[in-house]
Amino acid sequence: MTHSDPNCIFCKIVEGEIPADIVYRDEHVLAFRDINPVAPEHFLIIPLRHIASLNELDSSDTVVAGRILQAAPVVARKAGISGSGYRLVFNTGPDSLQSVFHIHGHLTGGERMGWPPFPGKAVGHG
Ligand code: 5GP
Ligand code: ZN
Repeated sequence: MTHSDPNCIFCKIVEGEIPADIVYRDEHVLAFRDINPVAPEHFLIIPLRHIASLNELDSSDTVVAGRILQAAPVVARKAGISGSGYRLVFNTGPDSLQSVFHIHGHLTGGERMGWPPFPGKAVGHG
């Protein structure tokens, strides 16, 4: 089941070759703090198995895709932000500025966010 890409930085974190501040792990997913946080709380939730982006998800990934979602509230609760709120964002492809090609959900929170999060469209909410 485990498919790893030797050139992938997140596969190296899964394998323990690169250290990370891991907050959650099960048989399908891993969650750790983003090295360059953009919010007071910023975690990445990734499948253990190398899948480059949401574009590469297929019908054999149903369980892992569900587990990524299910890990989000677990991580949020540990960070103390499940009540105050959080976002789960999956950058996919060039327009999104995806930079690491191993699926990762950015779980961010710990402060009031604006909506919508798109250039030139920000309205913000007090
Ligand atoms: P993307 O731009 O692909 O949506 O997000 C990639 C994220 O991975 C960025 O927020 C970046 O800070 C984070 N990141 C990149 N390399 C590392 C690393 O080695 N360790 C950790 N913890 N985060 C990383
Ligand atoms: Zn990978």
